[in-house]
Amino acid sequence: MEKIRTLIIGGGPAGYTAAIYASRAGLKPVLYEGMQPGGQLTTTTVIENFPGFENGIDGTALMDAMRSQAANLGADIRYGTVSGADLSSRPFRLTLDDGTELSAEALIIATGAAARYLGLESETRFRGMGVSACATCDGFFYREKDVAVVGGGDTACEEASYLSHLCRKVYMIVRRDVLRASPAMQERVMHARNIEILWNCSTQEVLGDDSGVTGARLQRKDGEVFDIAVDGFFLAIGHHPNSELFSRWVATDENGYIVTEGKSSRTNVEGVFAAGDVQNPSYRQAVTAAASGCVAACDAEKFLNSLNPGK
Ligand code: NDP
Repeated sequence: MEKIRTLIIGGGPAGYTAAIYASRAGLKPVLYEGMQPGGQLTTTTVIENFPGFENGIDGTALMDAMRSQAANLGADIRYGTVSGADLSSRPFRLTLDDGTELSAEALIIATGAAARYLGLESETRFRGMGVSACATCDGFFYREKDVAVVGGGDTACEEASYLSHLCRKVYMIVRRDVLRASPAMQERVMHARNIEILWNCSTQEVLGDDSGVTGARLQRKDGEVFDIAVDGFFLAIGHHPNSELFSRWVATDENGYIVTEGKSSRTNVEGVFAAGDVQNPSYRQAVTAAASGCVAACDAEKFLNSLNPGK
C-alpha cells in the first residue's frame, strides 16, 4: 500500500491551493482531482472577482494555472477518484475507484459541492436530454431556442444572463416574489430584454418526448397550473456538499457541510482537515475556497510537525 504524507482530495481552488502551500512546506502532497479536475469553476465563463486579474480570467484558465503552479512546486497531482475512506485510526486508509489502496498521515478534504436538483422523476428522465445544471457547459446547444432557469439566487441570475446572449428567450422560474441574488445580479436580469421572470412559480413536471425536453408544467402560488414551451431546463437552486464519503467519521452539520473548529480547518478527527465548499455553505467563492486551502495546509503542517517534534 502506498504511504502518503499529505493526501489532498479535490481538484478545485481549495485543493490546489492546499497543494501549493503543502508543497512549499515539504509535506509531499499527493492530490487526487476526482471526476471534474478544476472543480466547479471550469463550468463558469469569465471570473471577474478573483483578485489579480484586471480584466477577469476564464474559469478553466484559472484552474489550469493553479494546478500547474502546484505541480511546479512539487505536488503530485493525479487523476482519480477516492471512493472509500476509513478514518477510524491513523494512518487513514483510502481506496480509489480502481481498487488501489492508500494510507495517509494527514488528510485534506476539499471535495467541494455539487448542484442540487428538484427531485422530480421527469427531471431525472431528461437529464442530459435538455435538463442541465450548468448553463455555461450546455447553453451552446440552445442557441436561438427558448429555455428556463429554476432559481432566484446569484447562480440562477448568472446562468440566465449567460443564456440570454445565446437563446431567444429565457424564463426564470422563481418560487417567491423576490430574488435572493445580489442587487448587481438582479439588475442584470431585470434589464435583459429576453429574460422573463415567472414569480411565485414551482415546477410540477418537466415535459418532453423521445427528442428530449419540450417544456415544463408550472404551478403558481394561487394554484394556477400552466405550461411553458422550452427546449432546455436549467437548475440553479444551490448545491450540496460532497461529504458523504467521510460523514461516518467527520462531523457534519444538518446540511452535510463538514464542521471545522473555529477559524481553523480542523475537523473532529485529528489529522483530517476540510477546505473549500465542502465546509463552507456561506461564501462559495473561488477566493474564499483558495484561502481555506491555505489554512488547511498550514494546519496540516502544524499537525505533522507535532507528530515528529524533533524534525
Ligand atoms: P442560493 O442558495 O443563493 O440560491 C438558491 C436559489 O434557488 C434561491 O432563489 C432559492 O429560493 C431557490 N431554490 C432553492 N431550492 C429550490 C427549490 N426546491 N425549488 C425552487 N427554487 C429553489 O444558491 P446560489 O447557487 O445561487 O448561490 C450560492 C452562493 O454562491 C451565494 O452565496 C451566492 O452569492 C454565491 N454566488 C456568487 C456568485 C458571484 O459572486 N459571481 C455567482 C454565483 C453564486 P429561495 O430564495 O426562495 O430560497
